[in-house]
Amino acid sequence: MPGGGRLPVSGFERPTWDEYFMLQAELAKLRSNCIVRKVGAVIVRDHRQLATGYNGTPPGVKNCYEGGCERCAERIEGRIKSGEALDRCLCNHAEANAIMHCAILGIGAGGGGATMYTTFSPCLECTKMAVTIGIRRFVCLDTYPENTSRLVKETSSEITMMDKEKISYWASRMPGGSKEVPVR
Ligand SMILES: [Zn+2]
Ligand SMILES: [Zn+2]
Repeated sequence: MPGGGRLPVSGFERPTWDEYFMLQAELAKLRSNCIVRKVGAVIVRDHRQLATGYNGTPPGVKNCYEGGCERCAERIEGRIKSGEALDRCLCNHAEANAIMHCAILGIGAGGGGATMYTTFSPCLECTKMAVTIGIRRFVCLDTYPENTSRLVKETSSEITMMDKEKISYWASRMPGGSKEVPVR
């Protein structure tokens, strides 16, 4: 019998692929330097992580939380509404940074179609760039990006919504988490 005839270990658990990569995106999100919202994104092909990104000002530009983006500062102060004056925002989106990560390092997302995991939902601009580099599956938490539906349909892409509870569960299993697993 393969495996030496041992019985499977009961109660053994680990994240699914989708949960695993969303956790990677959650990790990237922690590094965000934006005061308005923190987002993380990961690009995956054949179960391998190709690139990662979080939102914030470009390298060499003062961090958003240090006053690097006037638009975000005005948004936080309530001087402009959500979604307004985005043309003045200096923060790159997490998804765009993950896509640029591919560009900078010359990583091809591939003709077979890659997956983008994002802790929010990709905007129209990011979805346009993503389908351009060959991403055909989007996995997001919470919100369905309405305005991208035609783009998604026409490129035969798919959107998978993930349950935040699942991600919280695995995060709680990490060191310091409420359900931390003792090291054996
Ligand atoms: Zn910002
Ligand atoms: Zn975007």
